Amino acid sequence: MKDSALPQFLALGLAAPITRALADEQYTHPTPIQAQTIPQALAARDIIGIAQTGTGKTAAFALPILHRLAAAPRRCEPRRCRVLVLSPTRELSAQIVESFTTYGRYLSPRVALAIGGVSLNQQIRALVGGVDILVATPGRLLDLIQQRALGLDGVEIFVLDEADRMLDMGFIHDIRKIVAKLPRQRQTLFFSATMPREIADLAAQMLRDPVKVAVTPAATTVERIAQRVIHVERAGKPALLAELLRRETIDRVLVFTRTKRGADKVVRALAKGGLAAEAIHGNKSQNQRERVLTAFRTGRVRTLVATDIAARGIDVEGISHVINYDLPNVPESYVHRIGRTARAGADGVAISFCDAEERPFLRDIEKLIRMTIPATDHRGGRRTQPTPQAQHARGHSPRRNGHNGHNGHKAEPARHAPQPNGAAARASRKAQVTNGGDIGAIAFMRAPRRPGTPQPERRAPR
Ligand code: AMP
Repeated sequence: MKDSALPQFLALGLAAPITRALADEQYTHPTPIQAQTIPQALAARDIIGIAQTGTGKTAAFALPILHRLAAAPRRCEPRRCRVLVLSPTRELSAQIVESFTTYGRYLSPRVALAIGGVSLNQQIRALVGGVDILVATPGRLLDLIQQRALGLDGVEIFVLDEADRMLDMGFIHDIRKIVAKLPRQRQTLFFSATMPREIADLAAQMLRDPVKVAVTPAATTVERIAQRVIHVERAGKPALLAELLRRETIDRVLVFTRTKRGADKVVRALAKGGLAAEAIHGNKSQNQRERVLTAFRTGRVRTLVATDIAARGIDVEGISHVINYDLPNVPESYVHRIGRTARAGADGVAISFCDAEERPFLRDIEKLIRMTIPATDHRGGRRTQPTPQAQHARGHSPRRNGHNGHNGHKAEPARHAPQPNGAAARASRKAQVTNGGDIGAIAFMRAPRRPGTPQPERRAPR
């Protein structure tokens, strides 16, 4: 693909080596968050971006950063970085590095990763000559500063990614410490999926006259995912999960539990039933996590059981199903969880188990997403039909595109026709993603299905 195939990216003012890399990636149109963020970031403005993963927010900050670095080339100072990106998890940090490397392939910036769970010495060595871009988790960054392996006085651009998750994970204190070490004169790009009070306060302290861009209010994203609730007794959950894994047409499924122990228990219960699964959570070493993620990515493992924190930042294509084995007690987590499916324009199914104690959590979730999730009853061997379609909770009117707010999906998804694997399939998914081009629309989400229309195609199980 030639650069001329990317007029919209060129119109944003991005340099040719960057649009060339985008053409390689078969990106044709900027996503809404990119269209709104890139021109402002190129103009050196501070930005508050309200966007979830899956909207293309990484490129929204990575592309203008690469452009600005290339426009003002400078030799790296020893033990310094020009750009600092803070992200809450190791996986997300690694993915951000990968994005910079991919989009910067014709510029070759020096990029380094500083995360816990791997050798500190290696990271110290990587920083000796200085780097253009450093992507770090807060704890490891502070370790490096304490070891005098890094100083932040040369930072020109600071990115704080997934600020709300940082707050959930207890990183706010570390972030304040880090921000205090940054030069006052800098550009700050601040991203968060939600904007609770503490996050708004933090942003107000860190940013100078920021431009606000918001493309995916959490509550509307979920309208595009086929959701179901199954009421079930707690003791019935393991058997129900095994049944679903056998019955549903699943490419890759992410199963969420509330605790690490719960994740391991689910894996053991599935193994007893002859179903292979792996768990990923904070007790696992970085090597174990990487091994499991690679197995999941390549399709060797179809079922990954995760806790909220571990799942954050996992960017794996083709997660067809999210199963909430336990409902989260924080309703926003539900939105984060089910957002793991339906990424990059793909279709997604989210199934939530709800036992008696979790009823209040379900109520909170439905209030947040402003719809009633179609439910079936699996208690005591019961099997009821689902409610015919999602209803908006509390009489709220739907917010987008004049669509009626109903999911309109069948409760039991039909078996899907096979779809080609590999590059062609990826390319067609990407095309589907980017053809919208409407700033007001939600990126990467398919149009809501109307009742009675067939399910979109999905790959057959391996
Ligand atoms: P993110 O929200 O940054 O996690 O990005 C979600 C996914 O969208 C990633 O797999 C990106 O490679 C992909 N992506 C980002 N921008 C575009 C674009 N303009 N066109 C197509 N795919 C994109």
